[in-house]
Amino acid sequence: VNPKPDASTASTDEGEALLATALRQRGGRVTPQRLVIRRVVGELGRHVTAEEVHAAVSERLPNVSLPTVYSTLELLEELGEVRKVHAGGDAVLYDPRPDDHHHLVCKSCGRVEDLDAAVDAAPALRRARRTGFSAERASLVVTGLCRDCARRKR
Ligand SMILES: [Zn+2]
Ligand SMILES: [Zn+2]
Repeated sequence: VNPKPDASTASTDEGEALLATALRQRGGRVTPQRLVIRRVVGELGRHVTAEEVHAAVSERLPNVSLPTVYSTLELLEELGEVRKVHAGGDAVLYDPRPDDHHHLVCKSCGRVEDLDAAVDAAPALRRARRTGFSAERASLVVTGLCRDCARRKR
């Protein structure tokens, strides 16, 4: 039995209550680390590496290890709480914005910014499924130079 969070007591903790419910439904334990890690990703408010999350979390919970941060971020991604962004190269970034959007990646300084644009990914997904690929979603990464780097090059 999963008691639903009471909608009448909407508060700033509502997101965490929903996350706690999602974790429980998945059979996972609701540990303080998990909630703190989710909160920190939201507070950082940008695309961050697991190492950056770990550094910020360590200020509050000194005993959290990097592997714990990694596995928690993976779990949060499965739950749709954060999103993983492959920004080119080996860099994997975690995005506090889980909704569908695209990214601009600067190939000079590595800056990653959100790009809100309507892109019709349906043909690509259809094509992928036709090859037997279980496609989940598609997003666009636009590479180039950010405004600052482009200006510096001039
Ligand atoms: Zn740049
Ligand atoms: Zn993003």
